[in-house]
Amino acid sequence: MVESPTIEQKKLWSILETVTDPEVPVLTITDLGIVREVKINGEEVEVIITPTYTGCPAMDMIAMNIKMALLENGFQHIKVTSVLSPVWTTDWMSEDGKRKLKEYGIAPPNPTQQVCNNDLFAPAEAVQCPLCNSYHTHRISEFGSTACKALYQCDDCKEPFDYFKCH
Ligand SMILES: [Zn+2]
Repeated sequence: MVESPTIEQKKLWSILETVTDPEVPVLTITDLGIVREVKINGEEVEVIITPTYTGCPAMDMIAMNIKMALLENGFQHIKVTSVLSPVWTTDWMSEDGKRKLKEYGIAPPNPTQQVCNNDLFAPAEAVQCPLCNSYHTHRISEFGSTACKALYQCDDCKEPFDYFKCH
């Protein structure tokens, strides 16, 4: 083998860093931390992803976007594998990703929210307003603009905002 696999893998990761989340276009799939592994099996490239939650409709689009990005960069045999275990947690999201999410006007996941658990998603949970940083917020709807987000409203600046929730 002339080419070192590490160089090839670095190239693959740098391509994956350009693939964005269809729901939150400011975030890349590497910001979200859903890319678990990139394998090269001979001619074939396998990208292993873990959905942010099972059945998220955006995942099909993400898998397609991964294939398209790799095809554009000269890779021909691409396999995208979804691995459901271990379950994706908001901890996998990069600090950069959380910052971008906030700048986009979506409250980043709480650092304390470690596992996908509905009990942690109680109304008492303090969610910070991405606009004025107030913790005086309340949940309006369990579902925001997409099923992956909940709709909140700030009691101080009165602005509604999305909270990126974990399922
Ligand atoms: Zn506010």
